[in-house]
Amino acid sequence: MLEEFDFSVIESRSLMHRFEVAMVSHDEWLAGFHRALICGGSLGEEYTAKNAHELCQFGQWLRLLCQKKPNLEAYPLVRDIAFMHLRMHEAVRLMLKHHGSGTCEKKILSRLYDEVSAKRMAFRWLVTAFDHLVCYHILHTDPLTSTLGREKLFATLNREIVEIGRVPGRESLIAMVDVDYFKKINDTYGHIVGDRVLVEVTRLIKANLRPTDLVFRYGGEEFVIFFSNTSLTWAGALLERLRQRLSEYEIATSPTTPPITVTASFGVIKLTGSDVVQDQLERADLAMYQAKTQGRNRVVIR
Ligand code: GH3
Ligand code: MG
Ligand code: MG
Repeated sequence: MLEEFDFSVIESRSLMHRFEVAMVSHDEWLAGFHRALICGGSLGEEYTAKNAHELCQFGQWLRLLCQKKPNLEAYPLVRDIAFMHLRMHEAVRLMLKHHGSGTCEKKILSRLYDEVSAKRMAFRWLVTAFDHLVCYHILHTDPLTSTLGREKLFATLNREIVEIGRVPGRESLIAMVDVDYFKKINDTYGHIVGDRVLVEVTRLIKANLRPTDLVFRYGGEEFVIFFSNTSLTWAGALLERLRQRLSEYEIATSPTTPPITVTASFGVIKLTGSDVVQDQLERADLAMYQAKTQGRNRVVIR
């Protein structure tokens, strides 16, 4: 899934748009190939060059994408797409070479053409799978904070509960995080500044976690952090450091508004393999409320 790459909804939409443009361009490229086979005529280096797969718009799109999100290059589906794209270009080049020689047997040509068709189909399937993945990511990502939505939270925790029941000794945690006195920020500076603060708070939270730790928006200014396969001692220390950094972080929201500082209260619990998700979230909520009643800006581990 794409959550570890931290695509915002806007980034994902723009990704999909450029992706569609690249695919249309690829269809035109294939149409040129078919035209040359049927009607004759010569084709340029976008068909014949060894690096044709890098020259085409799809190849350029893929390169830009991997430059922007370096880890994406190693993502299995992206790797498969890049590989199949290359193979498709190779198959086209080989077919054109034999077809252009004018001496190639029809049997061999038809085998080469079948190769092109097979690669094209496989490439299409992979690309469609990626397209679905991005759509799914958009559907489950909060447009304001780029954190994941509640539906995804329940699905993730349900899966983890099964895993904890299955693997003895597995320790996974959730932390309920609630921004302190957030209403006062809205009341003092307005909702737009309030929104900006939420964006910065979640950005700071994510920057202090590992890529595998997931952040969900539970409600307005409430978030859930999910630590999979992590010890309570380790996560407790991490959250304490995060709490402190957040309290010291001066959030610049606009040139006319002075920097704003906020704090948050954290309630941490260990997930069990037996309770339902809602009960586990309630336990985390209770721990968070304890942090509130003890004076806020603190981490309570239960
Ligand atoms: P506490 O320390 O007890 O949590 O106090 P609080 O003021 O943070 O809590 P309260 O529940 O009273 O207020 C939360 C506020 O968060 C009220 C709501 O308008 C605001 N809020 C929720 N979602 C958003 C949002 O997306 N943007 C903005 N700007 N405000 C939001
Ligand atoms: Mg609050
Ligand atoms: Mg709240």
